[in-house]
Amino acid sequence: MMEGDRVAFKLSTPGVLPKSERKLREEFLSQLELVPGGEKIKSCIQCGTCTGSCPVSYVMDISPREVIARFRIGDIESILKSRTIWVCASCYACTTRCPSGIRITDILYAMKRTAIEEGIFPSRFPVYTMSEGFVKNVNRYGRNHEMGLLVSFYLRTSPLKLLKMLPLGWRLFKRKRISFTPMKIKRLDQIKSIVAKAESQVMPSEKASIMVASTVGYGSTTEVKQRAAGAAQGGAK
Ligand code: SF4
Ligand code: SF4
Repeated sequence: MMEGDRVAFKLSTPGVLPKSERKLREEFLSQLELVPGGEKIKSCIQCGTCTGSCPVSYVMDISPREVIARFRIGDIESILKSRTIWVCASCYACTTRCPSGIRITDILYAMKRTAIEEGIFPSRFPVYTMSEGFVKNVNRYGRNHEMGLLVSFYLRTSPLKLLKMLPLGWRLFKRKRISFTPMKIKRLDQIKSIVAKAESQVMPSEKASIMVASTVGYGSTTEVKQRAAGAAQGGAK
């Protein structure tokens, strides 16, 4: 472009989305049938019943009502980065009370799966660290090992807190409530095969997770499906 050339900016009409944005949203909404009951998202009336019914909305950074509003406009990334998807207790109060029949819990769950798959959370994020440690213990011993879980959890999230917890840990140990050594269950192979089978199943919320990932540009649908299949095969070993 030569110096002095004038650039013609095409301003959009106030209140009317630019064509590219409109197309993006239309494409996004057209894929909603992949979410369980997803097509109903379009009929959200923003009444706030979901937020009002939610027992943990006071610790969420994005309320359930706002999640649906952001979901509708395609602002998925902010939901994936939010605390909300992690603190949802999956009680289904929002889903059962929504006058539009929107399955908010399933949407939040799909978002959480996508966040896990894409690693969209702080490396020391406590909820994920705790759940990851728990699952590892169950895979290894067939049950949880509380002492091991707590030590690895605090080392990975907040080592100083581990020192503060030592007196409590010692009291629990003296009362035989926790043990230093993990105990394996009998027939661990059966638990492993159950877990492997569960991991190989594609649940409806995983389909939603695949849809979300393709929409927001974290990889094509095929890539995400291949990754999911690879993970399932790895778990089945
Ligand atoms: S209860 Fe349903 S309709 Fe009301 S804001 Fe929540 S999702 Fe929308
Ligand atoms: S399912 Fe989650 S978002 Fe819905 S009311 Fe329960 S805790 Fe709140």
